[in-house]
Amino acid sequence: MKIVTVVGARPQFIKAAAVSRVIRNDYAGQIEEVLVHTGQHYDDNMSKVFFEELDIPHPKHNLEISGGQHGAMTGRMLEAVENVLLQEKPDWLLIYGDTNSTLAGALAAAKLHIPVAHIEAGLRSFNMRMPEEVNRILADRVSSLLFCPTETAVNNLKTEGVRRGVHNVGDVMYDVALFYRDRARQNSTILQTLGLTPGAFALATCHRAENTDDPQRLSSILSALAEIATQLPVVLPLHPRTRKLIGDYGLVPLLAQLTVTDPLPFLDMVALEQASRVILTDSGGVQKEAFFYGVPCITMRDETEWVETVDLGWNQLAGANSRRIVEGCLNAAPLVTKPNVYGTGIASSLVIASIFGQSA
Ligand code: UDP
Repeated sequence: MKIVTVVGARPQFIKAAAVSRVIRNDYAGQIEEVLVHTGQHYDDNMSKVFFEELDIPHPKHNLEISGGQHGAMTGRMLEAVENVLLQEKPDWLLIYGDTNSTLAGALAAAKLHIPVAHIEAGLRSFNMRMPEEVNRILADRVSSLLFCPTETAVNNLKTEGVRRGVHNVGDVMYDVALFYRDRARQNSTILQTLGLTPGAFALATCHRAENTDDPQRLSSILSALAEIATQLPVVLPLHPRTRKLIGDYGLVPLLAQLTVTDPLPFLDMVALEQASRVILTDSGGVQKEAFFYGVPCITMRDETEWVETVDLGWNQLAGANSRRIVEGCLNAAPLVTKPNVYGTGIASSLVIASIFGQSA
């Protein structure tokens, strides 16, 4: 069986690390995986470092498509992925999450009648202004196998009338967390490098368009982080887009009290997450990692796809409201119980077994 996997963005590299490992270790000689990197994230510290550190096979096809408006980027990817699919003639196309690379892959394959398997299917924010929401709904619509991380995601698809091919396999990111959490603690020296004391700092990330493309929201978030930093050190690994927009909006002075770094390699990020007192983020992946590692999270968004983390009390939605962010952060405390709602850490194996089972 041949699978073409399309990836392009940081969270997709991380998830692909877990799934590709299952293919290589458990299906050698039975499944050939051809990796396509669209180029959506291209900086070394958003891409290359992940391939090296997480032992992801070299992409056979590097499309080198990045930048531009959503339509232009997705259109160029669609044409390029189609060419790859015509050349490779795979049995399945595998896609992750909700980026433009996800949508381009899904559309290219569907038009060529190549069945699509979607990992992280069924997630909904119910906010159609998010580019990710558009991408994930359309990708789900043309997928034959829809691998959901949660029961909530299964129910979202049911509400939309989608039942066939839907499987709750758990969250691939939980597999990743189990695999890397000890390695990160043992191998990363980031705490010493940044001079941090475990349990005595906050970790923040911010890159969602709804925050970065709105100067008021971004300013409000950075002001909150600056205020928190007067009481608790704040580490902010800065996404390249966010860094650029902070400069464009004249907000650089708000960074003065923060420990700002370039985007971090994954093991450093995971080491920081585990050692932090509280996490502030608008990232989907980071919200869940906070939950997996038992760290309270303040989500700087108005809604979340990962509603379980909120329902269970580990995650608070603060939007871009400075007061709510600061108070939420300074009052955050870990809870005692943390039921496992993201599967048992074997999502990657279940995904590949299911795809492979289709050939029987
Ligand atoms: N991450 C990382 N380095 C960083 C920031 C994030 O390795 O400097 C990891 C993080 O641990 C998580 C993933 O990137 O596993 C989340 O990706 P991102 O926030 O870009 O996307 P999202 O999850 O919001 O789609």
